[in-house]
Amino acid sequence: MTTQSLFDRKRGGPFAPLSLPPFPPGEVWLVGAGPGDPGLLTLHAAHALEQADVVVHDALVDEAVLRLARPGAEIVFAGKRGGKPSASQPDITRRLIDLAKAGKRVLRLKGGDPFIFGRGAEEARALVAAGVPFRVVPGITAGIGGLAYAGIPATARETNAAIAFVTGHAASGEVPDNVDWTALARSASVLVIYMAVKHLAAIVDRLLAGGRSPDEPLAFICAATTARHRVVTSTLGRAVADRDAHGVEAPAIVVVGEVVRLREQLGGWWDPSVLDSFQTDSAAE
Ligand code: SAH
Repeated sequence: MTTQSLFDRKRGGPFAPLSLPPFPPGEVWLVGAGPGDPGLLTLHAAHALEQADVVVHDALVDEAVLRLARPGAEIVFAGKRGGKPSASQPDITRRLIDLAKAGKRVLRLKGGDPFIFGRGAEEARALVAAGVPFRVVPGITAGIGGLAYAGIPATARETNAAIAFVTGHAASGEVPDNVDWTALARSASVLVIYMAVKHLAAIVDRLLAGGRSPDEPLAFICAATTARHRVVTSTLGRAVADRDAHGVEAPAIVVVGEVVRLREQLGGWWDPSVLDSFQTDSAAE
């Protein structure tokens, strides 16, 4: 099914009676694409894909999602890929502003949620400064959607009453020094760490120094909710060795805490190969 038919009254789409806002020319919509599986797009996101003139996306947006763009929409890649130099943040914001001022419907599509470690705030502020009207469409962040697809509940009553989202990589390229790792280790029983693969050894050291046990369960959720989705379970003490032994690479979410054990019962409910058939079906349409 295309997104078009979802909203098409004549074709009797299931969401046809929904009145979603039209995408006015000259606006920028800052939209979360979710972690990968196109089924995790919001209706606002699907509707925006159907109307946009230009889709400016980053490297984390899965192909399967981009295929839902309106035929004829211009697709612009703005991110890092394959070691090529990345478009700089000022260049990206400039481009969004120029396209909007030229009267385009500009869809700025970001992996996960635009305001979770995604520089969405910087872009939104630049739009405000330039007087460009915008809308924000939240998305399912990898730290929520990826955990669910891995069979790891973000919270469970018997394990945790708190959860922290943390980045393991600061703008400086190092482990962020504006995170009090000791306080974090003591306060949040479940830690969901983005961009943690590279500096994993330093992060593990800080959490152990803050009092976490080396036996505590940890999982890597790689390319979550995409056709390449893979989960590697480990412990805090063995995490670095397991990362290397299993070839864990970005993008991956690292989750630390007792909730990881629930995967023994809940894991496996989702099979990434369903996305292969989804892609084949939609390509055949
Ligand atoms: N805005 C995004 C996060 C961007 S930061 C979101 O809300 O999900 C980039 C980091 O996000 C990656 O290094 C990785 O840690 C995580 N990430 C994003 N998409 C992912 C995916 N599909 N699977 C695993 N991790 C992902």
